[in-house]
Amino acid sequence: MYEQIDHPCVQHKLAIIRDVDTGHKRFRELATEITQFLCYEALKTIRTRQVEVQTPLAVASCRKLDTDIVVVPILRAGVGMLDGILDLLPTARVGFVGLYRDEESKLPVTYYERFPPQVRGGTCIIVDPMLATGGSTAAAIDLLKTAGARQIIVICIVTCQEGLDAVTKVHPDVAIYTAAIDDFLNENKYIVPGLGDAGDRLFGTSHP
Ligand code: URA
Repeated sequence: MYEQIDHPCVQHKLAIIRDVDTGHKRFRELATEITQFLCYEALKTIRTRQVEVQTPLAVASCRKLDTDIVVVPILRAGVGMLDGILDLLPTARVGFVGLYRDEESKLPVTYYERFPPQVRGGTCIIVDPMLATGGSTAAAIDLLKTAGARQIIVICIVTCQEGLDAVTKVHPDVAIYTAAIDDFLNENKYIVPGLGDAGDRLFGTSHP
């Protein structure tokens, strides 16, 4: 399952973050702001429990979140979405996945994996601004399923149909939320029109 969030505020911010003239400070701020909108949407399916709360006037029937939440940025660009989610979910735990693509096999190889124990039975939110081929996302989902995650949600800022198809084919139970489904992947596996190299733009490491 995947959903593109068409909210005007998200699309407005997306227009600015795509702009080649947006510098790394503003890019980082926009990544945070867009992530918060996407996260708000993504959490609509999260498990809650019924609680009774005494207000000054009466007892109200309320709902509280009822699951451990683990945010999992895919290194390195996913780190640029972490603060936005932690602002919304300050008690969430954080795990990390580092993957690179083997030049020969073209398959993702894990070079770093560190999860809190709450992954087992918990709700995991994978964040990566660009879901391009889907290889890293699918590999991160594999790792979290092996670690016992009960529910897995993916939040990205930009993706393309090819990447969505690749992930949903192997993980149809995982919900993906995005601000944009772009046209295609170029020969270097960059999303077009996309927003360029998200890691470089977030951390100011691009070389003009
Ligand atoms: N990673 C990026 O940073 N940008 C893309 O377009 C694809 C993958």
